[in-house]
Amino acid sequence: MSTIRIGNVTIQPTKIICLGRNYLDHIRELNAPIPNEPVFFVKTLNTLITDGNPIIYPKILDNSEKYNRVDHEVELALIISKTCKNISPEHAFDYIQGYSVFLDITARKMQISDRNIKLPWYRSKNFDTFGPIGPRIADCREIEEPNNLNIELKVNGETKQSSNTKHMIFKIPKILEYLSKFLTLMPGDILATGTPSGIGPIHQGDVIEASIEKIGTITHKVILER
Ligand code: MG
Repeated sequence: MSTIRIGNVTIQPTKIICLGRNYLDHIRELNAPIPNEPVFFVKTLNTLITDGNPIIYPKILDNSEKYNRVDHEVELALIISKTCKNISPEHAFDYIQGYSVFLDITARKMQISDRNIKLPWYRSKNFDTFGPIGPRIADCREIEEPNNLNIELKVNGETKQSSNTKHMIFKIPKILEYLSKFLTLMPGDILATGTPSGIGPIHQGDVIEASIEKIGTITHKVILER
């Protein structure tokens, strides 16, 4: 079982589930259709790194004209507190341990290329270090209204993404209700709730700062895989 220490809390996630296309402004910039139901995909546990550790830009992408774009996506993540299935939206918050800042790093050209030939997003989302999280888990008493938090991302000090979690299409209770119809959520599982507009490329040497109000900031330098 893999464990990860986020701030002063250790969790043992069994899975990382992410929402795609959950902010209207981001859907517009992707030229994607507005979903009627939440769109889910998984990130694997090898992606996880904590605050201050480098994001490794894969050689295989850097060396390829076809695939050489990697993007930042800042997202609000929640951590599941106890085993649950078929949650009702009214009780959704009983199953949340707390909230963290998550970066859904994405090999964008690879994702688009795979999507165009009807392949899944799996490989474009799951390179090592493509899932930074932290700097801590803010518990539910601190975050009474997770659907009203400012969310921001800077590259080398310049703001690239700036929004508020109130702009999510599917809100947290709805997401948990829907997702838990399909599968059992376990303590420590991480759910990332989608990114707002402003996604863009990262490059070797960049410093990425991702922040959410009341939670904090994670800072990651991008280095090339050796
Ligand atoms: Mg995302």
